[in-house]
Amino acid sequence: MLAPTVAHLSFERDDGQVLPCIPGQFIQIHFRYADGSEARRSYSIALGRALDTPPDARVDIAVSYVSGGAATALFEALEIGHRLEASGPYGRFCLFPNDANRRYLLVGTGTGITPYRAMLPQLEKLMHDRSVDVVLLQGARSPAELLYGDEFRAFANAHPGFRYVPCLSRELPMEDSLHAHPDVRHGYVQNVLAELEPDPEHDIAYLCGNPDMVDASFELLKERGLAIGRIRREKYVSNK
Ligand SMILES: Cc1cc2nc3c(=O)[nH]c(=O)nc-3n(C[C@H](O)[C@H](O)[C@H](O)COP(=O)(O)OP(=O)(O)OC[C@H]3O[C@@H](n4cnc5c(N)ncnc54)[C@H](O)[C@@H]3O)c2cc1C
Repeated sequence: MLAPTVAHLSFERDDGQVLPCIPGQFIQIHFRYADGSEARRSYSIALGRALDTPPDARVDIAVSYVSGGAATALFEALEIGHRLEASGPYGRFCLFPNDANRRYLLVGTGTGITPYRAMLPQLEKLMHDRSVDVVLLQGARSPAELLYGDEFRAFANAHPGFRYVPCLSRELPMEDSLHAHPDVRHGYVQNVLAELEPDPEHDIAYLCGNPDMVDASFELLKERGLAIGRIRREKYVSNK
């Protein structure tokens, strides 16, 4: 468990093949309701492979358990070695390395942070090749819900161009906690986003997760002059 109600799940294709995906894409899990009708749910691929390591057959996802959720029941009943049917990858919520932006504003709440984890190796290359700056805003209620927070902090410590800003709406970290840092903010990501003074000329923004957060952040960025093409969005809505 990554947090009290969020699991990190690791799968392998049973044909041993690599899933050729671009960081930021998602897969769909297929299952059936009790009446036999088919259903699918989407999950972002949470695995970032270093660019120089050979790809393997692993596909990792982070699943937030939703009370009464159909796919949630499926995941909760899974045991090690079980099989699921899935398809993909899908989606265009990806970095485009030929963009000319100078700063990436990456915003995620809940499991909406996982695409950015997958993008870390690409971001590392962008920072190295083009000296771009990256700010990752992670929204959560409490430090215990900062999914992969220790990995993001370690990445920020190792890369001066990368700033990691956890935004906690309810509970701040204790002073001696692993998560204590001057970049921790109290409040919602969309409010902290304003503090970063979005720049319409040089910024590109990625918004992922809770639809209300995505809408609020989108409005704020538009008000600050960012063109719609500079605001990429992925809303985590249920597809029944
Ligand atoms: C492109 C895309 C990528 C996604 N990636 C992820 C991911 O990486 N990890 C992940 O956990 N989910 C992700 N989701 C959401 C995921 O696909 C499911 O919607 C979610 O897991 C709930 O499915 P369920 O079958 O358990 O619940 P459902 O049976 O669909 O819903 C049960 C009840 O819970 C409500 N509900 C559904 N989702 C939420 C929620 N997040 N919070 C509160 N209430 C909710 C529903 O409105 C409904 O009332 C993604 C969605 C999209 C569209």
